[in-house]
Amino acid sequence: MLLGLSQIIDRPGESVSFSTSVDLSDLQYGTSFPVSEPVLASGVVRNTAGVLVMTGSVKTCLHGVCDRCAADFTRDVDIPIDVVLVTELANEENEDEWVFHLEADSADLDDIVRTVFVLNVDSKMLCKPDCKGLCCRCGKNLNDGPCSCQKELDFAALKQLLDK
Ligand SMILES: [Zn+2]
Ligand SMILES: [Zn+2]
Repeated sequence: MLLGLSQIIDRPGESVSFSTSVDLSDLQYGTSFPVSEPVLASGVVRNTAGVLVMTGSVKTCLHGVCDRCAADFTRDVDIPIDVVLVTELANEENEDEWVFHLEADSADLDDIVRTVFVLNVDSKMLCKPDCKGLCCRCGKNLNDGPCSCQKELDFAALKQLLDK
């Protein structure tokens, strides 16, 4: 969706609000496509002393497969949008990913939402940030509790110490 901004470009203090839904179901993480639900973006573009600042949020629910423990999971994501929109292509040099160019006085919301999403969602899909993964010996999901290998290892280490 293109968001027309011609009515606020030359008017400091003015703002335009937006709300859109973007399809990012083609985004692949590992072997899965976790963005199966529509991505909802909403917020406002404000002309702040001549600079167009876009703030808002990007929300969706991920349906992923954990890279570490291979479990299916669903997780809500809520990413803040805080970007600057510029009209002219003049200062290419100090350009970074949080600056987007307007085309014909319009902001390309699909492009902005996709970029904000990709840059904020970790390329590693984990069911939770501290996922313990699977035991490399017995394959047990260590999020469900320790497996017996761990005890065996501890016992072996202890025995080694005692034998010395
Ligand atoms: Zn996991
Ligand atoms: Zn184990």
